Amino acid sequence: MIDLRSDTVTKPTPEMLHAMMNAEVGDDVYKEDPTVNELERRVAELFGTDEALFFPTGSMANQAAIKMHTQPGEQLICDKYAHVYNYEGGGVSFNSGVSCKLLDGDRGMITAAQVEEAINPPDFYHSPLTTLVCVENTTNKGGGACYEMSTFHEIKEVCEKHDLGYHLDGARLFNAIVAKNQDPKEYGTLFDTISICFSKGLGIPLGTVLTGKSELMKKAMRVRKVLGGGMRQVGFIAAAGIYALDHHIDRLAEDHKRAIELGNYLSQLSYVKKVEPVETNIVIFKVNDEQAVMNYCDKNDLIISNMGQGKLRLVTHLDYTQELHEQALQLFKNFS
Ligand SMILES: *Cc1c(COP(=O)(O)O)cnc(C)c1O
Repeated sequence: MIDLRSDTVTKPTPEMLHAMMNAEVGDDVYKEDPTVNELERRVAELFGTDEALFFPTGSMANQAAIKMHTQPGEQLICDKYAHVYNYEGGGVSFNSGVSCKLLDGDRGMITAAQVEEAINPPDFYHSPLTTLVCVENTTNKGGGACYEMSTFHEIKEVCEKHDLGYHLDGARLFNAIVAKNQDPKEYGTLFDTISICFSKGLGIPLGTVLTGKSELMKKAMRVRKVLGGGMRQVGFIAAAGIYALDHHIDRLAEDHKRAIELGNYLSQLSYVKKVEPVETNIVIFKVNDEQAVMNYCDKNDLIISNMGQGKLRLVTHLDYTQELHEQALQLFKNFS
């Protein structure tokens, strides 16, 4: 079986399990779990941020951040592909009573000019007050695309000028950092809040860290509690996170290499109409008859995602080895 649906399908390695089994734990709702405290300290140190807090999921971390930044009735700005808008169950309106102004970006990426144009005039009381900008790096629905750092700086200027919060959904931020050889501390200076999933490319069973400025992060414990995300001896999981910080970041380059190889390979096959640019570990390609390709993959124990409208998606990850990669290439070649 080759599972290329998502980088969330990975299982802990024996070494990661060993680190988990040997974790020193305590009750994290009392902030007494030394391993969780250490993971949070490590993330804040890495990004040069004031504070960090461990959440069970990326959706909860994003939703908490949006809650911390906004008041009901306000509006946030994001791309039309944004995870916070498309894949968090309508949580923006449910949890925060906030609406989304959607921008038509490029592969999930927006520009400072688009943001500036989308801000409602604050004294025009008919429209919702714009208070937050959410960006995503890498973009999920945008096919793993990475922003240029300069774009983030330009958007930050707009946020500062108009007094808007600036949140980064960094579910796959380490993929961007590795692909573009960036400094995590630059992200720490740019954003008010950043969420980073450990359950994607880093390969831990669950968990996301939200990090940022103390003026906002001081609300994070209460909001997490409200959302039901206060966990107890969760150091067993945080230990996997610390292990991943030490061992699973640099290797993301392997996932990117295999994704780029898959993209190049697919672009030469006659049944593939188009392959979106591959920058990290996500490959989106278009075919004429998606159902035929899906059925073929299914029969051959190759699991991929159908995004609809002829678009199929592959995501490379920790458990997608070189051996499986070679088998997958062969399977794609044999389809006719
Ligand atoms: C996976 C993901 C999240 C978090 O999703 P969960 O399923 O809650 O872990 C958030 N943003 C993006 C862009 C993602 O890809």
